[in-house]
Amino acid sequence: MNEHYDLIIIGSGPGGYVAAIKAGQLGKKAAIIENRELGGTCLNRGCIPTKTIMHSSRLFYEAKNLQEAGIEVEGLRFDMNRIQERKEEVVSRIRKGIKSLLEANKVTVISGTATIMDGHRVRVIQNSAQEENTNQEPRELSGDNILIATGSQPFLPPVEGISQENVVTSDQLLSENDFKYHNLLIIGGGVIGIEFASIYQEFGSQVEIIEAMDRILPSMDKEISQSVAMSLKKKGVKIHTKSVVKRISKTDQLLCEYEDSTGTHFAQADGILVAVGRKANTRELFSPEFSLEMEGDKIKVNEHFETSKEHIYAIGDVIKGIQLAHAASAQGIRAVENMYGKKQSIELSAIPSCIYTYPEIATVGLTEEEAKAKGYVVKTGKYPMLGNSKIILSADERGYIKVVCDSSNNKILGAQIICPRATDMIGEFTTAMVNGLTAEDLGKVIRPHPTYGEAITEAAEDVNGMAIHIFPKGMK
Ligand code: FAD
Repeated sequence: MNEHYDLIIIGSGPGGYVAAIKAGQLGKKAAIIENRELGGTCLNRGCIPTKTIMHSSRLFYEAKNLQEAGIEVEGLRFDMNRIQERKEEVVSRIRKGIKSLLEANKVTVISGTATIMDGHRVRVIQNSAQEENTNQEPRELSGDNILIATGSQPFLPPVEGISQENVVTSDQLLSENDFKYHNLLIIGGGVIGIEFASIYQEFGSQVEIIEAMDRILPSMDKEISQSVAMSLKKKGVKIHTKSVVKRISKTDQLLCEYEDSTGTHFAQADGILVAVGRKANTRELFSPEFSLEMEGDKIKVNEHFETSKEHIYAIGDVIKGIQLAHAASAQGIRAVENMYGKKQSIELSAIPSCIYTYPEIATVGLTEEEAKAKGYVVKTGKYPMLGNSKIILSADERGYIKVVCDSSNNKILGAQIICPRATDMIGEFTTAMVNGLTAEDLGKVIRPHPTYGEAITEAAEDVNGMAIHIFPKGMK
């Protein structure tokens, strides 16, 4: 039987399911095909599980350090089994929400693996057929448009010994019920590696990071990388940069051999997390007679998210660019609007990036160096959080807010924040950028006291040297 849809979406991560809901809202008949759980990487193996486990690790860490706030705690321990149960509860609650949103928007949800046969046809091997090993006929669908939102999976580099027990990816580490790794070695100091370093350090493990580049978080502003490295080192995390892993072997523990400019070294661990990047999910996606233009392992698209074949679109982690859930969702909405000639409701030029370590990190737009490299004459405002009342009363780690402006009109070009709740505060700068606001526009807003957000006013006012609460240099 051939079922026809206005739009067939492959993959139900934050890119796919949001696009499906948008199509439903526009009155289109849409189907979404998913070969694992609804919600994709973000909900099941990414954003939500990491931040749920991190919620527990943060509370545990804070509880261990309550003395400063005048509270004594004895016999503190954590139960990884219960933490995992809670994570599952959170994930399944959100999954139910997605399912009912899809239903409410009349989206047909199909559980199976999709293969694109040609510009309009998709074949689905249903999960029930695979699980029960039956000869169930594949389901044949046709669509006016097809949207590929198949996401990505962990990439394992070809290193000797990488496939042995206790050498794991983020997928595996997020689902372990036992707390096994009291010495965790992390290969890769990018966002995923650093977030896991934070979690394991907070739970009390000895954590060591090996990074090939000259700094951790190499895609971030240098000052931020340095601040995070300093904060992690202060908490006992060992960091080796410009270091390349050669092989992993096993004695009574795992032994990782790596090289830097001084020679060969060894790091011992009872668990190794490999977090060196992700690869696009395109396996089984195309029939042997069908192909799309690629950029490396990613699907090539134009600015409208159209692939090299008319009526086939791609978004999210499967295309080149920023790999974030909110970026995938925004692209999904834009792709659907493009398909149906609708006015664009979402602006893609300012995408915030966040790291949920303690303190949190959030950035949007250009750094000072990037703005200068693009030819802007730049003005900046910076507020060191040591003067912020909320930071002082909460005994929080310090940080800063930096805002980058175009000096010709003081319009906001970018911002970098490192402090608690940075991931919530970055929205103010994103709003400012998308709406062409200036430092003065940001500075004239009254923000409640005492809050971390007050520092946004100070940073904005510092662009014109008018911040009230910046302490003179040298004062602590
Ligand atoms: P995915 O979410 O990967 O969804 C794609 C879905 O398609 C998957 O379920 C897959 O099984 C399915 N699929 C693949 N091929 C087929 C096929 N042929 N047929 C049917 N189904 C198929 N981003 C943030 O913004 N914030 C965070 O805090 C954050 N934390 C992260 C933490 C970790 C550990 C990881 C790994 C990622 C994190 N990310 C975070 C990134 C975020 O998860 C991804 O950017 C996002 O999930 C990409 O969405 P997507 O819709 O493109 O694809």
